[in-house]
Amino acid sequence: MSKRERFISGIYNYCDRWCQRCEHTKRCRVYRDEQRVMRRHKSKGEDPHDMEVVFKDVSRSFEKVMRMITRDAKARGIDLDEIIRESKNVDLETDRDRVEAHPLCREAKRFMDQCGELLERLKPIFNDARSDAINRAEFMDVEDEADALTDVREAFEVLNWDYHLIYVKIKRALGGLFESEDEDDDDFRDSSRSDAAGSASVARRCLMRDKAALLAIYEWDEQIQDTAIDLLAIAERISRAIENLIPECVTFVWPPEE
Ligand code: SF4
Repeated sequence: MSKRERFISGIYNYCDRWCQRCEHTKRCRVYRDEQRVMRRHKSKGEDPHDMEVVFKDVSRSFEKVMRMITRDAKARGIDLDEIIRESKNVDLETDRDRVEAHPLCREAKRFMDQCGELLERLKPIFNDARSDAINRAEFMDVEDEADALTDVREAFEVLNWDYHLIYVKIKRALGGLFESEDEDDDDFRDSSRSDAAGSASVARRCLMRDKAALLAIYEWDEQIQDTAIDLLAIAERISRAIENLIPECVTFVWPPEE
């Protein structure tokens, strides 16, 4: 298989960016590039997470992407400045307001805020329960408790990864949906609609695992059952609303077929 064939085109567009848990790292160009950058920094003794280093990486990637876009546009006879001219007629504030005022977006924001609060409350409860189990492990069997703590830790990690992402992806899905509704050009309309479906499908996949995570937390500790139940209801409402608004997200294929 050649290097070009090894990568699945656009696989990174609608993933959850949780590379440490991704099954497709070997087929993902973004992952390969990021690992290459990490190795380069490490070999120079640099910290790849230092803000100065991150800033330089982003600038370098941006320049690379701009070169690719300019070259591709020229080859296809596309006038890049046309977008700038058209964008002067677009009321960005109004479009953003329209997305943010949508009930689905407001519900996603509620999920994000409440989930953040739940995770903050969960941390000390989890740490206390863990210390308690460790202390008792010297004189009694705590195997079941240890298993439950492992499940809760996993639930915490999943929610912690997802709760911002869902809000961002839903905003993007709504933006794509509105764009497709306003668009006269068939190609642009289809591509906006497909982007909306892809973004909605990421949010939907995250919500599915988040519901399982919330259930694990609900079953584990009585102190946070009310919040967990509220969040389960919000997650369910968001899932149903996405599927109703952008039904293609249910059948959206990810990773993309080769
Ligand atoms: S497809 Fe997988 S490896 Fe590539 S960016 Fe997304 S999560 Fe990371």
